Amino acid sequence: MDNLQKIVHGLLQAGTIDGFLGYKEVNGHLLPFLFTRDRPEDLKGMVSRDPLPRYPLESFLVDIARTHPQARMGLLARECDARAVRELVKLNQLSSDRVFLIPLSCSLSNLHEGTTCSHPPSPAADGKKPEWPPRGIGKSATPEMLGELSPGERLRRWLEEFAKCIKCYGCRNVCPVYVCKECSLEDEGLIPVGRIPPDPSFHLVRAVHMAGFCIDCGLCEEACPAEIPLRTLYRGGNQIVQRLFGYSPGKEDSHSPFHKTGLSPTPGEAYGNE
Ligand code: SF4
Ligand code: SF4
Repeated sequence: MDNLQKIVHGLLQAGTIDGFLGYKEVNGHLLPFLFTRDRPEDLKGMVSRDPLPRYPLESFLVDIARTHPQARMGLLARECDARAVRELVKLNQLSSDRVFLIPLSCSLSNLHEGTTCSHPPSPAADGKKPEWPPRGIGKSATPEMLGELSPGERLRRWLEEFAKCIKCYGCRNVCPVYVCKECSLEDEGLIPVGRIPPDPSFHLVRAVHMAGFCIDCGLCEEACPAEIPLRTLYRGGNQIVQRLFGYSPGKEDSHSPFHKTGLSPTPGEAYGNE
């Protein structure tokens, strides 16, 4: 057994945790896996070597909390996973005393080409200002660069990006902080149906809803088959929230201005406004 396997085995056998979410090699593929006390033999296949794939393991944690609210769960967590868990605790979707994080040191090699981490361990960004592509926004633009464009030019470039969307919902479905009972993206009163690409309101509604919640993991952008720079869009929303409320999602001991609305249900219950 390697070190991680030994640690998880010890936590499971001691009853500190009931299950552990990590990665296992299955038929040559590295997949998310739930390790449990009654199947210690699975631990031999647990993998912690770099590079590991990226999955929203926290979404599985939320599903487990909804069906087994008393379960104590361990999680192999990069920094972005830890940010998601903190936000989900604030959203009352997870109990902090029932989630145990084992930190995974992350390297940029874990990230798909063209994506960046907002909290990169190394190497540091080279500081060079990226160039604008002829059309759209591209993957390198920062919210600051967007702020230098005229409103008309900015809108034109975003509409060019939104026109690539095939409305697959991958961005929403992969998001670790998407925990709603009902989704406005499927509300026909908000977003006209039967159109591919969807009406731009599809992206604006999602962007507004992610402001103050997005923990900047970049999974949506990695999942998007149309290569729309979604992370840049949601970073812009977070910057507005930071400016207005002094709040950054995913930080420790930082209360969200959006979680004081009385809408948060009891732990394990889906989030919504019913
Ligand atoms: S970067 Fe995308 S997937 Fe990650 S939390 Fe933000 S909206 Fe969700
Ligand atoms: S993942 Fe990309 S293509 Fe799919 S709905 Fe989201 S923005 Fe559109």
